[in-house]
Amino acid sequence: MSISQLAKSIPASPTLALNDTARILKEKGEAVIHLGGGEPKSKAPIDAILSASAKLNSAEIKYTPTEGIPALRKAVVRYTEENYDHIIAPKNIIISNGAKQSLSVLLLSIIDPQDEVVILAPYWVSYPEMVKLAYGKPVVVTPEDGGLEPSMDDITRAVGSYTKAIIVNSPSNPSGAIYSEALIAELVTYCEKKDIYLIMDDIYHKLVFDGSVWTSPYQFAKVNEDKSKLIVVNGVSKAYAMTGFRIGWTIANQKVIEAMVNIQAQTTSCASGLLQTAAVGALNGIQGGVESLRTTLQNNRDIMINELRTIDGVRVEKPGGTFYCFPDFSAYEKSAAKLSKLLLDKVRVVTVPGNEFGMDGHLRLSYCGSIKDIKEGVERIKWALDPKSPNEIFIGDRKMVRDWS
Ligand code: PMP
Repeated sequence: MSISQLAKSIPASPTLALNDTARILKEKGEAVIHLGGGEPKSKAPIDAILSASAKLNSAEIKYTPTEGIPALRKAVVRYTEENYDHIIAPKNIIISNGAKQSLSVLLLSIIDPQDEVVILAPYWVSYPEMVKLAYGKPVVVTPEDGGLEPSMDDITRAVGSYTKAIIVNSPSNPSGAIYSEALIAELVTYCEKKDIYLIMDDIYHKLVFDGSVWTSPYQFAKVNEDKSKLIVVNGVSKAYAMTGFRIGWTIANQKVIEAMVNIQAQTTSCASGLLQTAAVGALNGIQGGVESLRTTLQNNRDIMINELRTIDGVRVEKPGGTFYCFPDFSAYEKSAAKLSKLLLDKVRVVTVPGNEFGMDGHLRLSYCGSIKDIKEGVERIKWALDPKSPNEIFIGDRKMVRDWS
């Protein structure tokens, strides 16, 4: 069978593969605890459901304009003014099937073969593959100080004459770190000076804790809107618990939006009109669900971090946002893939190995599930790692005996 070079260069998505493994084990009746998840368990906002139901009842679900329905683009204009303190026009917006498609259509629209895109480790697993799918070259920056936020020096060292864009995701998947205001300000100014794209993936910007202030990049921008290479990607998946609705958007200068419209028109035509209508409901409706999700996640984070800090040798920074943390387990095992496999095989806990995010020795653990799962999941991890813990543990109704050290 003949498969393209491009397809051969893209491995299976590790997080989706883990979800499959967990599902199969669960179906077999195994007491799996999933700390690998990437979606809140709360329900979609009622306003999203009411809007979508009314639309569905009309029985008129047709193609929409490629760039999205006017009502949703208008809602994004309002959202941007409210959350970013920045005024944009509908012509600066394109709606896509999730922020994932927003990013991938965006990269296809701006990258020429061999253009480089700077990605900050630890990074979201999809960035390097999306860049490769656009025939670009991912260039990974790893913080030299061993922390979770790169310095401007780390970043500028990676920028060269082929650099087309830098992708920033703050708060970050997988670390939950919120980049400092100073770094965001420097990045905006630097990219303007260098005339390179700065892509802000803000999908977690509303899920921040302890009164932390998330920084809107627009306040530092000086270049005129029509020429600006500052691009914002966002969507309803995380803050509104609407992952399955698949609605995201991109805000960019009109030329970039027009290029994206042409590419999207020849690939998916448009996002589903039904689900765009649901997103209008979410963005314009009562916002209480976002705040209650945020406080639930903050509480879950506190529980997970406290539990993790009882494991000797595990180093973990308290995340400022998202629903992930990224503890360093290298004192126990340098290979995160090996450790993640051991935890799934022996104690049935799903984790995502840090090497998938460009940082080995770490595991990404999610706290978007139940408190019971968070507590029991970390307890099982502790049991698996600590040779001083009792030799036996019950997992569901199965007794496990430690046969490793
Ligand atoms: N960016 C980041 C950093 C993410 O973690 C995700 C979802 N895992 C996305 C973008 C894509 O979100 P969606 O396609 O569901 O809107």
